[in-house]
Amino acid sequence: MFQLTLRRRGISDQAVLRAMEEIPREMFVAAADRADAYRDSALGIACGQTISQPFVVAYMTEQLQLQKHHQVLEIGTGSGYQAAILSRLCRQVLTVERYRTLADSARARLEKLGCDNVEVMFGDGFDIPASAGNFDRTIVTAAMEQIPESLTQRLEPAGILIAPVGPHHGTQTLVRVTRTGAGFERKELVDVRFVPALPGIAREL
Ligand code: SAH
Repeated sequence: MFQLTLRRRGISDQAVLRAMEEIPREMFVAAADRADAYRDSALGIACGQTISQPFVVAYMTEQLQLQKHHQVLEIGTGSGYQAAILSRLCRQVLTVERYRTLADSARARLEKLGCDNVEVMFGDGFDIPASAGNFDRTIVTAAMEQIPESLTQRLEPAGILIAPVGPHHGTQTLVRVTRTGAGFERKELVDVRFVPALPGIAREL
């Protein structure tokens, strides 16, 4: 059913569909929401944040055009669900979360699932340490008013970044930036709604 819904909405990449089928979304939602885990809707998680709608996860993953050797950065770990999907399709995922509670519980879930190519970092996605290196792909899963140059500059040649860009409260547009020989190519994809990307680590747990 889950696959059918995604296919019907236009997801066609077999590897993405397989990853969506293999990762149990019920492990990433609150116990009270388990029955709704395979409905195509976003759900609330701890710290006032959300796990994205499955279609949006599949769509963003498909747009990243992942290859097995890719090094991927995710900003906004949340539940860890998107990171688990990515982990099936690339070599290494670094995912960053500004709430310690969310980072810790995502790390525990990913370990339990055996996603051993994911590193969960508690920190600020606007301020990734230089030692983390550059990335073939970057996926931002929180709304940014604009895409900071610090992120595009860390894309490898031909690298792709996807981020929801727009006002913090309201509708944003999913934007795909590709690093080309001459600079950057920008394409607007679809309208989405994400929780805001906020600077700094959260002072609450
Ligand atoms: N990808 C997640 C959903 C993300 S919700 C999933 O699959 O469940 C967006 C997340 O981004 C929230 O958890 C929020 O705390 C986090 N976030 C917002 N601003 C951030 C920042 N500057 N650095 C790291 N994480 C951030």
